[in-house]
Parts: sequence; structure tokens; C-alpha cells
Amino acid sequence: MCAACSLIVICNVKFMPPSKSINTKLLVRELSDGIKFESSVDDVSVRLSLRGEWNAFRKNGRFYRRCMDGRVISSQGALDFTQNEVQLFHGEIANVCRQMLSKNCGSLSSHTAQILERCTKLPDHFYHQLQDVYFRAYPEGVPVLPPDRYRDLVIPITMGCPNGQCSFCAFYRDKPFSLIEQNRWNEVVSSLEQLFPGGVAGRDGIFLGSANALALSFVQLESVIDRIVHLFGLPARGVSCFGDADRMGVRKVEQWQVLRDKGLVQVVLGLETGADVLRERIGKSRRLEKTRGLAFQLKQAGVAVGLTVLTGFIGEEFFAAHKEATCQFIQSLELTAEDRVYISPWFTDGAKEPESRAYDEAHEIKRVLSGQTAARVTAYSSHNFYYFS
Ligand code: SF4
Repeated sequence: MCAACSLIVICNVKFMPPSKSINTKLLVRELSDGIKFESSVDDVSVRLSLRGEWNAFRKNGRFYRRCMDGRVISSQGALDFTQNEVQLFHGEIANVCRQMLSKNCGSLSSHTAQILERCTKLPDHFYHQLQDVYFRAYPEGVPVLPPDRYRDLVIPITMGCPNGQCSFCAFYRDKPFSLIEQNRWNEVVSSLEQLFPGGVAGRDGIFLGSANALALSFVQLESVIDRIVHLFGLPARGVSCFGDADRMGVRKVEQWQVLRDKGLVQVVLGLETGADVLRERIGKSRRLEKTRGLAFQLKQAGVAVGLTVLTGFIGEEFFAAHKEATCQFIQSLELTAEDRVYISPWFTDGAKEPESRAYDEAHEIKRVLSGQTAARVTAYSSHNFYYFS
């Protein structure tokens, strides 16, 4: 869902009220992390960071976004730009800013004029260097986030996955798990500071990367959250992460309460299916007691629960069993309105996208679950995730 994915994020961007309306043809919004200007005469809009780099651009009815890994995405999907073409694209946006400056000289606030000017003066290799910094901060990339956490600042604290055996996993299968060590941590922090000089400004929340932050001990997790909040601040939507109940130590509700008080608001667990036989077939633990126990503990501590569910990952003859067991399991958790169930149509290795059956199955599970749980149930194409700037 390239276009839909982009649109969801675009709709989630929260703009502050317009701070400077110059005339009916040019609208400038000053944001916590930069500016956005729109010119109806030129049919163009640009969103820039405080440092002047562009994040979103619209011209002649086409909309573009810049990803943290250097790719440019249009509403039709990722653009297959060469390095040279990307460079030209950045140059075109700098030209637009140059023209805005010269056309509206005198009527722009000094803040806006400064940011526009910064954009025009970014060195040729600025975006390319930023891409290098991104891969220093995120050696594994940022392959996926829950859909309601797309605007989070991702802080990598681990690499790989302590399970690493799920047959369907496109992101972390066979990648050994490790904690980011202190000497690497300093480099990560310095890279993040270069990528996000405004800290969490403009970001909704913090996400602890990557596959299973709960594999850290309670003491490690507590210390990591403390350090992160000290360095970057605590955004309004707090801290979230992925977790796996089968690959973590024993915890008490009081410990979750401590983490909640430090900012942990949500843990997303990979359920995929509630059918024990099917879980075993895809490389997950057959037994769901630990997942159930963890969900109850989190709820007791006031931490919201997210659950991922897959469709299309296994032959259609198993769908009825998958649907029944999954819905039964989720219903038994007695989730509430702040909890989330994300249903992702999946695809086998080699396919570019899920079969239409996977979408149909996702809609069917969503339909059934919506009448059985108070949690918000969302169909979500996680394979088209982009970590936008
Ligand atoms: S537990 Fe999650 S991240 Fe790890 S291999 Fe399985 S699906 Fe991938």
C-alpha cells in the first residue's frame, strides 16, 4: 500500500496553527521542527527541517517524501533514482526555496527566511552524507514499525532477534541477537544527534529498536530508557517497543509499573496466530501461556498491548483454524480501547506483495475481531513501511 501508507503518515502530521499567512497565495506554517510553506500560484509545497533539509515536497500534483535511508518515495511508491538523479531532485527543491526567497523577500519572517536560505546552502553531498550517518545509526535499517508509531524516533538498542527462526520473517530471520555495547552506543547516539538535531521535536514518540527490546533484563531496560529520555527528552506519546514473551526473563507487575512511570506506554507482541499448531509450523513457540501472562501483566501495570496477526502466511485450507483460534485468544485477553491489534497480509519469499487472498483474510479477521474486542483492530501492510524523515 505505497500510496495508502504515505497518506496515513501524511494525515498524521500534526501542524501547529499557521503562524504567518503572507497572502492568499503563500501560506507558511512554523512548526516545532521546521517550516512548511505552500504556494498556490506555483502549485508547490515544501516541508523543511530547522536545518533546512527537505522532508516532504509537492509539485504539479505529485507528492514526495524523503526517507531516512536516502530513498525518495512518491505516492506511487519508491522512486528508482540513481545517485545522480537524487542529487538533481534535491537541487530542484533547493531552487524552489531560492525562488520563494526572492519572490517573497521582505514578507517572510526572519525565521522562515533563514530556514529557506539554509536549504539553498546545503552542500552538494549533504544528503548523501546523511545517508551514511543513517546506516551508522541503524546498521539493520528500520524495517518496520507499528502503524500508529510511524512518527516515532527510533533508538536502536539491540540488533537481531533472540528467536530468529520464524519462517515468514523478512527482517530478522537468522540474525543473531546482541545488545548494542557501550562503545557502539556512543557512536549510535552521535549519529542520531546528527540525524535528529532537534531531538524528539516533530516526532510523536520514541521506539526502542529493534526486534525484541524485552530481551534485555529489567535493569538494562530501565537504564536504557533513563539514558534515552535524558538525551532526547520524552515525547507526548512516550516509549514503545516490540517484545516476545518467549524470549525474555521473568518479570513482575511492579517492574512494568516502574518502566511505565519512566515512559513505557506500549509493548507490541508478535502473536501472528492463536493456533498452536500453526505457530509451531512458522517457528514460534506452540504454547501461548507466556504471551497471555505478559499481556495481563502489562495491562495490570497500565502499559498498552499491541498484537500482530498475519494472514496469507500459510495455505488457505488452514485459514478457518487460524481465524477461530486467533480471535478466541485475543478475546480472552480482555483488551481495552488503548490496545491495538495489527493484521498484516503477508507474502512468501520471492513475492513482491501479498496475494489478494491475504487481504481478504485480513478483512475477514478484522470484521470478526472488531465485534469481539475493545482494542482497535487495524489492517496494516507492514511490508510497505518507510521510515520517513
Ligand atoms: S520473533 Fe519476530 S523478529 Fe524474531 S524471527 Fe520471529 S518474526 Fe522475526
